[in-house]
Amino acid sequence: MTFQTPPSLTPKKGIPGTVPETYRSALSHLLIDEDTLQNRIREMGQAIARDYADKNPVFVGVLKGVLFFMADLLRYTPIPLAVDFMAISSYSPETRDQGLVRITKDLDLCIEGRHVIFVEDIIDTGLTLGYLLRLLRSRHPASLEVAALFDKPGRRLIDIKPRYLGFHLPDLFVVGYGLDFREHFRNLPFVGVLNPEVIKNQKRQPKR
Ligand code: 5GP
Repeated sequence: MTFQTPPSLTPKKGIPGTVPETYRSALSHLLIDEDTLQNRIREMGQAIARDYADKNPVFVGVLKGVLFFMADLLRYTPIPLAVDFMAISSYSPETRDQGLVRITKDLDLCIEGRHVIFVEDIIDTGLTLGYLLRLLRSRHPASLEVAALFDKPGRRLIDIKPRYLGFHLPDLFVVGYGLDFREHFRNLPFVGVLNPEVIKNQKRQPKR
């Protein structure tokens, strides 16, 4: 089935009052609140459940950004399924720009002949995803589709269209709901826009 077009987004003021002050001061806007996220992920899960009802798919995610999305998406997909994770690290900024990544944890499951749904938190240039899809395809799954929560189509360098997509994002650096900046902000239940000053200031400091 064709999955409906993602809703459009506008950054808003109004970071929830429960957010710690150190995080609040680093965020410029709220982009997607918790209810909007959950409603959209529920729609994605329902669409996947309809399409894969009798296919016993394997959901594959890359740690750690996909953690929250994977957990919620699976809960909204009430069909028999399996889940597995990989972990990667980029060799260096230069090789990352060419989409070269090192697998630091491979899948435990064999995906040959299985229907695989690659679950991705955010597609930016698409280079990382392109590399991983080529790798997974070389293992001969019965089918391979992508379910991505966020897509920044304006920054795409290679042609990849997720079969299931949560939201198109503007070209802003976002955090929360699993997405980090230097390992912080992952635990926010919503998605916020990081203040560009924070990125600039951190670039001047050594990474810890
Ligand atoms: P790509 O290879 O598509 O350029 O890189 C995708 C990866 O870049 C994502 O998995 C994520 O780690 C990182 N990324 C891209 N945009 C953002 C963003 O707005 N916020 C965060 N936290 N990470 C991002």
